[in-house]
Amino acid sequence: LFITFEGPEGSGKTTVLQKIVERMHTQNIDVLSTREPGGIEIAEKIREVILNPAHTAMDERTEALLYAAARSQHFYEKVMPALNEGKLVLCDRFIDSSLAYQGHARGIGIDEVLAINEFAIGKRMPDFTILFDLEPSVGLARIQAHSSREVNRLDIESIAFHEKVREGYHLVMERYPKRIKQINAAEPLEQVVERVWDILTDFLDE
Ligand code: C5P
Ligand code: MG
Repeated sequence: LFITFEGPEGSGKTTVLQKIVERMHTQNIDVLSTREPGGIEIAEKIREVILNPAHTAMDERTEALLYAAARSQHFYEKVMPALNEGKLVLCDRFIDSSLAYQGHARGIGIDEVLAINEFAIGKRMPDFTILFDLEPSVGLARIQAHSSREVNRLDIESIAFHEKVREGYHLVMERYPKRIKQINAAEPLEQVVERVWDILTDFLDE
């Protein structure tokens, strides 16, 4: 099964994913965790190109295509082989990020971005997705408090942009109401971990 974590910056996806994976290991669940954009060498290189703060001239179509290219490589090189071995795969961001950021917030259109991604991954969607819903100002404040985080090109975007990302995620959730479950990421970390654990174990027991 292929499970993805989605949501804005500072919503805790990466931290929660790590804790969930640790807990799964103690229960001998065969899980692979990975992230996007990146996860393998070629896609990490594409990530550097996309997120480089010096690349302010990057056109949004270029950005959408680079994310799709990184996704394709990561998917066929790492995710699919693990799924074929029967592993559970947990991925920090996937296609819904592109639909919300490039499709809605950058204004390309969710259908347009979906189309290039269907080319990239052959229409294979995640089996289940947890959306970490959060007020953008809360997420941005968390990032500023967390000085070890890498600086990236998205850091210069306004709160209005991040509001659009959130709205984009809500539109994506309306399209895939059965696949995407939303959680309140404003709660304290331990509570979010428990909530995610409960939702995931319910899904896996089904
Ligand atoms: O925190 P994370 O590693 O997910 O950061 C990746 C960066 O790329 C974030 O700033 C995120 O907003 C941005 N991003 C984007 N469009 C995507 C995926 C990520 O702008 N499709
Ligand atoms: Mg993260």
